[in-house]
This record gives sequence, C-alpha cells and structure tokens, in this order.
Amino acid sequence: MRALVKRGVQRRLHLEDVPEPVAGPDDVVVEVSCVGICGTDFHILHDVYDHADPVIPGHELAGRIAHVGKEVRGWSIGDRVVSELHTGADRTCPICRSGNPQICPSKRALGTWTNGAFAERVALPAWLLHRLPEDIPDDLATLIEPGACSIHAMMERSRVHAGDMVLVTGHGPIGLLCAQVALAESADLVILSGRSRKGSARLDAARHLGVEVVDVDCEPVARRVRKLTNDRGVDVAVEAAGAADALADCVAACRPGARVAVLGLIGSDTVAFPWDTTVMRDLEVSFSFSSRESSWQRAIELMESGRLGEPAMVTHSFALEDWEQAFSTAGSGEAVKVLLRP
Ligand SMILES: [Zn+2]
Ligand SMILES: [Zn+2]
Repeated sequence: MRALVKRGVQRRLHLEDVPEPVAGPDDVVVEVSCVGICGTDFHILHDVYDHADPVIPGHELAGRIAHVGKEVRGWSIGDRVVSELHTGADRTCPICRSGNPQICPSKRALGTWTNGAFAERVALPAWLLHRLPEDIPDDLATLIEPGACSIHAMMERSRVHAGDMVLVTGHGPIGLLCAQVALAESADLVILSGRSRKGSARLDAARHLGVEVVDVDCEPVARRVRKLTNDRGVDVAVEAAGAADALADCVAACRPGARVAVLGLIGSDTVAFPWDTTVMRDLEVSFSFSSRESSWQRAIELMESGRLGEPAMVTHSFALEDWEQAFSTAGSGEAVKVLLRP
C-alpha cells in the first residue's frame, strides 16, 4: 500500500510502497478515507518531538473497517469508525484503570511511536475504536480527535459551566474547537484571542462561530476582556495557543477564584509566568493532555447534534502525493483544517 513515511532527520516525508499493516487477534485494519494534519505531525516532520524512525505519521483519521482480527467482537467489515490514539497503553496499570490510558506509561501513540494514518490502511487495536454515526461525514469526523482534546481540557479539567464567561487563547483548530465546546455547554460569553499577522482565515472562522474575537496584534487581551466582562474577568481561561505570553493573558483575564486549563505545548519546559498574581487570585490551574474515552463520547454527541465541528473548518484536502502542498497550506494561516485523502 502507499504511505507517507518519515525517515531519519531529513525534514520531509516520502511517499512509499510499504507492506500492508498486520492486524493482531485483537486489532482491526481500517481503510483510511481522510486524515487531518495536526501540529504534532509538523513537530514529527521537523524532529521537534521524539518519534519512531521510520514512522508513518497521522492520527486524526476516519475510515472503514477492512479486516477484523479473530478475537475482535462487535465490529464488522465496512463499519465506519474513528479511533483514539492510545496504542500500546496496557489497560491494566492503575492509570489505565482510572480511565486515563492517554497518560499510561506504556502508551506508544499512534502516528508517533506506531505507524499512523498517512497511509491507505492502518492497523488499530479494536478497544480504541468509536462507531461513526451516519450523520457525521468522514471529513468532519477527522475533527473528533482534536474535539475530544478540547473537551478534555474544557469539561474534564477546567469544568466549564452554563453561564460562565470564557477566554480561549489561540485561534488554531484546537482553539476554535474549545470555543465551540464552551458555546455548546451554554457559556454566557466566549472570547477568543489570536493573531491576524499570520493570516486571517482562522480569526474569520472564529467570528463565524459567533464568539468575541481579540486580535492580539492590535489590542491587549486583558483590556478587551475587562471591557467585555464589566471589569469582572472571566470564570474560565483556556490556553490553546502554545505561547507563554498567551498563558500570561489567561491569568490577567481571570476573576479571583477562576479556573485556567493549559493544553498548548510550547516546546520548552520553562516560561516566565505571573506567579504572584496566580497565587493571590487563588486561581485553579490544570494542565490537559490528549483525551479519554468520555471525551470522545461527548465529542461524537456534540458533533452529531451539530454543536461541534463546523463543516467550514475543513478548508482544504489533498491527495497523499501532494503532502508538501498540504503541509505548506496547513502552516500558512490561510487554512483552518487541512486533510489528506489516502
Ligand atoms: Zn492531533
Ligand atoms: Zn496503563
């Protein structure tokens, strides 16, 4: 089959003929119909994140089951599915048993440490699959994975409630999905901050969602938040930009006793942080990584009812051989979500 393979430290992928993926007794093989390009894929391409070498990247997939392992129950050839990416999680350690295989020490994430979905077919453990409802088309379904990450941060870490005022920093797909989750959970006010300097498509997409948009290149976030909240500050702030100054914006925007969730990665373990303000406002700060089964169930429910994943968010799609154009479009700021169609 054809797949995009990352080899060595060259900053490129290679379209190669590779052996068909082999399904173990508890696995299925999925025929990939489309797969989103994510920040993680850029970081693998540029060797910012450690990864298997060689590896087929790609984890935001939708497709149909093409082969079912002999111990798998409840799944059939032709079923439409999406998949969590916690390949390698042992399912038996205390962390897995608490419902958090996404942070299992044995996890070897799909598309990073095991071969992913930038390929015609991919082998997946059946326990990671979710059935795709008829009403959700494959292209939109690629947003379920980043949607689940957004739900984990918004609902399971910072616990957005109806009536809350919410700030989301970052206008990438994750920021836009976080804003949609806040709207879906009946937040009273949703403010999203981003930068117009890198292209306007994503800020336009945010305006289209009906949230208040702050362009960081034109206006300080805290000042606009004070204006919009009558000097009160937000109840919840979510950092989805992956930028230290955006985290400082979150703290500055919070009312005393507010909650902050951080899911952006910044490529470094140390940042300047408004420590004393955070302490004196008695803020609850939580960090959020990946997603768990409950996040996926909620993401699928919200998408099925039309409250998560605007069709307009998928702005481009390309064939595997056009991966270079796909990646440069995804990084250009004129795209929201870019898909590959193996
Ligand atoms: Zn992703
Ligand atoms: Zn485990």
